[in-house]
Amino acid sequence: MKRIAVLTSGGDAPGMNAAVRAAVRRAVYSGLEIFGVYHGYTGLINGDIKEMTLGSVGDIIHRGGTVLYTARSEEFRTEEGQQKAIAQLQKYGIDGLIVVGGDGSFRGAQKLSEKGFKTIGVPGTIDNDIPCTDYTIGFDTALNTIVESIDKIRDTATSHERTYIIEVMGRDAGDLALYAGLAAGAESIIIPEADQEMDDIVDRLHAGQRRGKKHSIIIVAEGVGSASKYAEVIKERTGWETRVTVLGHVQRGGSPTAFDRMLASRMGAAAVDLLIEGKTDRMVGIQNNKIVDVDFDEALAQKHQLDLSVYQLARTLSI
Ligand code: ATP
Repeated sequence: MKRIAVLTSGGDAPGMNAAVRAAVRRAVYSGLEIFGVYHGYTGLINGDIKEMTLGSVGDIIHRGGTVLYTARSEEFRTEEGQQKAIAQLQKYGIDGLIVVGGDGSFRGAQKLSEKGFKTIGVPGTIDNDIPCTDYTIGFDTALNTIVESIDKIRDTATSHERTYIIEVMGRDAGDLALYAGLAAGAESIIIPEADQEMDDIVDRLHAGQRRGKKHSIIIVAEGVGSASKYAEVIKERTGWETRVTVLGHVQRGGSPTAFDRMLASRMGAAAVDLLIEGKTDRMVGIQNNKIVDVDFDEALAQKHQLDLSVYQLARTLSI
């Protein structure tokens, strides 16, 4: 292994830059040449590839988004697109690729591995929806952004004595909603992994009202549907006016937290080490604060598991 490359793919996540920085610096430290592929798999197909130096990743550890840009590529899903990507990698004499992204990006990397090209995945997505890792890069930053937003909304909810329904990201995973709901003291948290009956949500609102509570915060994970839908049903069932806030893309950006910078630095460096060891077709993860590596097949065959004990805890603390 003499020359490797790194790309970011899928949705951007805070900490991706720290992962790229770690990969570049670890590669140089280990005597490798490293190239940056711009615009994800689109750039790989088009040969948008440049050599990275220690200096090219200076001053990025604290920045959200990704300096390598990211994209979604339909062409890369095709056999022809993948062959074009391999041809570009061969043209540059690159023999290993680090892909920072979500599970879709890993499936893409797996396709290259199947064709004999060495790939390692680094989980970068705010959704925390990748199996075999306790956390993904970007989750902690997004979580903190959401909690900060809920705290602000709570001030208004308290002042106006209203119920606020806040929709948060996470795709099919409820992690962001659950952790944010617990950390911000929400009355109800609606996530895809737990069946919370509307009766239960309404009962909780009424119970709060009976003990003099004048405002409530309900967190809805985007994976269960829109917050407006829940607002309508709550109005029908209680007669109360509610307010809906969809946090949207504010959750994606921003300077990564120290936790995400640490995680990204550890994972980015580990990915380089794995390529040096000759490993391929694997993703880096963190389990019980130890960096691990897992076969793509094993990881992608599983479904991400949310820790339901956290959900139970949130319910007992928001009675
Ligand atoms: P996020 O979770 O943030 O959305 P992701 O990596 O899951 O990130 P996707 O859009 O699913 O995002 O995948 C990113 C890119 O990976 C796709 O645009 C496509 O080019 C490639 N990709 C995804 N799935 C496959 C697949 N099955 N085969 C080949 N390439 C794929």
